[in-house]
Formats: sequence, structure tokens, C-alpha cells
Amino acid sequence: MFQKILIANRGEIACRVAATAARMGVRTVAVYSDADAHAAHVQACDEAVHVGGDAAKDSYLQWERLLQAALTTGAQAIHPGYGFLSENADFARACAKAGVVFIGPQAESIEAMGLKAASKQRMEKAGVPLVPGYHGADQSPDLLAREAQRIGYPVLIKASAGGGGKGMRIVTQASEWEAALASCQREALQSFGNDAVLIEKYVQRPRHIEIQVFGDTHGQIIHLHERDCSVQRRHQKVLEESPAPGLSEDMRQRMGAAAVAAAKAVNYVGAGTVEFIVSQTERGMDFYFMEMNTRLQVEHPVTEAVTGLDLVEWQLRVAFGEPLPLKQDQVSVRGHAIEARICAENPDHDFLPATGPLKVLRVPPARRFKPGPVRWDSGVREGDRITPYYDSMVAKLIVHGDTRTQALARLDQALAQLHILGLHNNVSFLRRVLHTPSFKHADLDTALIQREKENLFETQALSMSQAVAVAVAARLRAEMPDQVGWQDPWSKRNHWRMQGSAHRVWVWEFAGQRVETVLTTEVRQGMQLRIDNPSASFEWIDASESLQVRWGEHTWHAHAYVLDEKVHVFSDQGEAVCRWIDPLAHASQEGVASGHLGAPMPGKLLSYAVAIGERVAAGQALAVMEAMKMEHTVSAPNPGVVTELCFAPGDQVPEGAMLLQLKID
Ligand code: ADP
Ligand code: ADP
Ligand code: MG
Repeated sequence: MFQKILIANRGEIACRVAATAARMGVRTVAVYSDADAHAAHVQACDEAVHVGGDAAKDSYLQWERLLQAALTTGAQAIHPGYGFLSENADFARACAKAGVVFIGPQAESIEAMGLKAASKQRMEKAGVPLVPGYHGADQSPDLLAREAQRIGYPVLIKASAGGGGKGMRIVTQASEWEAALASCQREALQSFGNDAVLIEKYVQRPRHIEIQVFGDTHGQIIHLHERDCSVQRRHQKVLEESPAPGLSEDMRQRMGAAAVAAAKAVNYVGAGTVEFIVSQTERGMDFYFMEMNTRLQVEHPVTEAVTGLDLVEWQLRVAFGEPLPLKQDQVSVRGHAIEARICAENPDHDFLPATGPLKVLRVPPARRFKPGPVRWDSGVREGDRITPYYDSMVAKLIVHGDTRTQALARLDQALAQLHILGLHNNVSFLRRVLHTPSFKHADLDTALIQREKENLFETQALSMSQAVAVAVAARLRAEMPDQVGWQDPWSKRNHWRMQGSAHRVWVWEFAGQRVETVLTTEVRQGMQLRIDNPSASFEWIDASESLQVRWGEHTWHAHAYVLDEKVHVFSDQGEAVCRWIDPLAHASQEGVASGHLGAPMPGKLLSYAVAIGERVAAGQALAVMEAMKMEHTVSAPNPGVVTELCFAPGDQVPEGAMLLQLKID
């Protein structure tokens, strides 16, 4: 086995690879950018080499430097992780030339699958079923329009060089064709430096089901079964599971065989994923090849959970020249696994990526980077900052159970125990997705989030009285941080004032509402809490980390974190924020309409959708920004007239910087 490898990546995947390497006795070398000097992945490795500035293009994508770092430290192989250089054929070739093993397929296989159009031509020859469509080299507009007509609307235009859910346009009718093609080509050129497109029939109620494949240098290729990644937002995966619910045995076999055929057609070595789009009609399900990702995938732990295998170990063995550890018929699937991607983003704001400090990061009881009932793969620690330079996925929570129902219950519980404060994140949103009828009944397709939107956004899971009662308890606890255990009569909260009665009034803001609480403490009656109007007896107990709160007849557990004037409440029912309104503080500036439109996050300005002098309506799109691998539209908060555009397309814009000036009506 290798003695030392370099991990050419960051975040959770770098930590993940380091964990397996350590278990196998393989030394690891991390690389890091300025922004990551103290990152978890640097700590997780035996050595680390600084490779450049904050932006990925100045550090993690500087492949000459990474290769040099491997040579200098004596690393015999490079694990590229996913993203970054993992599908860069030039890098794979340069490694081979320098005598360093690239832990991945041959450069030729990466190239063959790199462009969606060319890979489909190849798959056609290999007899792998394709979505009806056009993937030719001729890109003349007339021909493309005719092809779209021939395929029949709705169609999907894709950037041939695309990835990460970018460069795709759904076109439902001929009249939309021209504008959609132009905007797809523009985005393709901007994001991938290549404006070639392909056209596919837009599959109705599609499911995304992919097959994990593995090849070795001895000519064997097998598959490790499927993952269903249909739950998506912006064409990007949110939840992934295995086995795919409702997939017939016959179809699983055929998909497995097609994936192996696809991999064989490009002499595939190492871990790869063949992605299929599955149509669901009354006649049944059909699958079509979509693309092959020639790397380890984000969601590989799902496969590890059901097969009991360590895919990174397999990658290292194969790269070292060993044959695959198992034959096809020795690979079996046990139970059900689901992965949730934990992202720094705001689901209520079109999944806008978020940056900031992880002021609180409390993780459920879980195994790290190892299959178990609950597994936590992350590259961040409490106190770390999520920076704008890389993508917004910060961790993954993976659960396993005997059945899908059990796995789902475990995931829900683990998400309830995952407390993140300091920046927007999708934890509560994920829980709501789990609770939708569609997900519960495995009625899956890529439009699930859209279809269930009433249940998913800006909902409040905790009742006002539950949240506020916990907030009151949390404030009391914060005022008496040094109290010992609740057995001590002197610190028993329900009698904490020994004489007469005491009266405390707090005003809170909960879900945009003003709530008044009055707490009365009497020696004999204990505490009485009035929340707005109803009044009931009130008790609370510190149970190590959590609080147990009783208000009237109802007792429940919650965690509460007091950060400045806010109390963040987490409980099994959901999370909520109560803001304490300090009567002495100055009136807030809220509601003052200003025409300064600030950038919602640091990023690149792609384009303005308006010109100076233009009159805009409230909600109208004003500018498009790109940050953390995603595009975001900034729209007008009020109607008005554009008086100034402050940046040029392509400019890097700091958070809060004025993007444009509106003269509000
Ligand atoms: P998947 O289908 O597995 O989600 P993607 O191509 O969307 O694959 O990207 C996989 C992961 O690679 C992302 O979640 C991200 O962590 C990482 N990644 C890809 N490109 C970049 C990049 N330019 N900067 C930072 N991270 C990246
Ligand atoms: P990327 O390289 O960005 O991952 P893919 O080709 O894998 O691009 O497609 C991403 C997602 O877009 C799929 O998972 C699926 O949800 C949707 N999609 C792709 N092709 C089609 C299609 N022909 N019909 C319907 N949805 C599709
Ligand atoms: Mg894909």
C-alpha cells in the first residue's frame, strides 16, 4: 500500500479521505489556502502544505503547485476528492507523467465522459439507453431549433460542458426557444468557457437514480447498486437514499448492467457514478443515461451504509494496483440509508448561500466518517467560519436503518439534535421535507420540493407558547449561570425567591408578533407564567445540556441558546427564535425605505437586468449575482426608478456593497 498520499481537496471530503487513510496506516498531506490555514482538514492530516490564496483558482485549482507539494513531501499518490481537480484530465495526465498516482480513472476515461454530448455519442454505441434528444456537434441555431421541434416540447437544453446543476433551461413551447437557447449559451460560456449545448426531451415526473460503479486495473468492473437522488433544488441534490424505493428487481438489474456497460465502454478504473434519469408513466418506469461522474460522489456514504464497504479504501487499493476486493455476486445491500446535505443557505430565500461564523454547532451522537445508525461527515467545527470562497455544503448526515421508515425516523431525530447557529442553514427545512406526504410515502421525483412548497417554507413548527416558555426559562438560566444541580433546594427554580412574591415582565418578538410574558413567583405556589393572556403554572429543570419546561399540563425538552437579545430554541417539534425586546433600547430603524440595494452576499456580479433611468416594479429582477457555485437574482423591494449602477458585470462585490441605486416612488 502507499505510505503517503496527498489530498488535493478541503472540507468534509478531505477529512473523510484522511480518516480512511489513517485507519489503513497511510500518512496524509493536506493542502490549504489562506482562508483554510486553520481548517479542520489541515488538522486531520499528518502534514500540510500552503498552496495559495483564498479563491479556489488561486489555491485548490493550482495543479502545478499541488503536484509539486506531492513531490516535495514524498506523497506517492494524490486523492482529488470531488469538485476541484477531480475531473481534470490534464491534471491526471500531469500526475502520471510526474510519477505520482492519480487516485481516479485514466485521463482518457475522464475526457471521454467530460463533455455530456460526446459521452452520449459514446454511450449510444455501447447500447446504453439515452433520453431522446440531440447531441451532435453542429450547433447552428436553425438546426438546434428544428431538433427541438422534432424531439417535441417540453425539452431541456443543457450545456455540454455543464455540471453542478448549472447551464440548464427547460423550454415548454416553441415561442420560448430562442430566448432560452441564448441564455443557456451565455451561461455555458461564462461558467464553463464552452457554449456548446445539447437538447433532451424533458422527462415528466423524473427520478434521478444513479449507479455506483467500480473498476480495477485488471479489467474487472462491477456496480455497488443504486442511489436515488430525486429530491433536488435547483437541479442539485438535497437528500439521497439507497435502495431506490419502488424499483423493481428487474429494473435494478438492468440499470446495474447498463452502468457497467457504460463504464466498460471507457475502460473505467476506480470509483465512478453513472447517472440515469427515470421516467414514470402508467406503463411503468424507463431509464436513460444522463451522464457519468468520473470521481467519488458527495453521496457515496449512502452506498457505504448499505453495502458495509469503505469506498475510499477501495479507491486506494485499486489505485495501488490491487484487484477489486469483491466480485459482483458478493456485494449485497442491507437495510436502508439516507443522506442529508447540510448546507449554509437560506431555503426561505431561494436557497441563497450564507456565510458567517458557526457560533453554535452541536452534533447528534454519531460516528465520524464510519457507517453506523447515524454518521456525521463534516469538515467544520464550532467556531469556524463559512467563507464565500467555496461551496455551501458544510457537512452530511447519513443514517441507516433496517427499513426506510426506520432510517427516516433516525434522520428526523438526528436533524432535531443538530443545532447550528450563526448563519442560515437548511436543517429545519430538511426536517420539513422528511415530513411531507410525498417523501414519507416515497412518492419521489425531482419536483418534490416544488410540489410540497406550502409545507416547506417559512413555516413555524413550534407554537408560540412553547417557544416563549422556553425563552423565559433560558433567560432565567442565563441570569443564574452558576446554579448547581436542581436537587439543591436553594437553587430550585420554582422556589428561587424565598420571600414574598416577585414579578418579572418580558416582551418578546416571536414570528413577527409581539408577545408579553409575566412571571410571578410565590413562595408556596411556585411560578406562574402568563403568556399574552393564558396563564399557567410554570417550572423548568436543567437537564445537563437541555431544559425541561413545564407550562400548565405540558412538559417538553428543549435546548436553548441565548445569543445577545435572541433566544434560539431547538426541540423535537422544531426550532424557533424569540427576540427579547429591550424596552430601554432605541426604536429600531425598521421600515425606513432606502433606495440603496446592497449585495446580499459577497460574490460576482454577472449582469444587470435593468438600465439607468428604467422604471421598475416591486419584485422585478434587477441584477444577477453568482456566489458559492450558484446564481441569484436580486429584485426590487419597492417600485422606483434606477438612478445608478455601481459595478460592472464580472466585478467581485463585497457583502453589503451597494449594487445599484433606486429612486423609490
Ligand atoms: P454532485 O453531483 O456530487 O453534487 P457537483 O459537481 O455538483 O457534484 O459538485 C460536487 C461537490 O464538489 C460540491 O458539493 C462541492 O463540494 C465541490 N465543488 C465542486 N466545484 C467546486 C468549486 N469550484 N469550488 C468549491 N467546491 C467545489
Ligand atoms: P449536472 O452535470 O449539473 O449534474 P445532469 O445532466 O446530471 O447535470 O442533470 C442534473 C439534474 O437535472 C438531474 O438530476 C435531473 O434532476 C435534471 N434533469 C437532467 N436531465 C433531465 C431530463 N432530460 N429531463 C428532466 N430532468 C432532467
Ligand atoms: Mg449530474
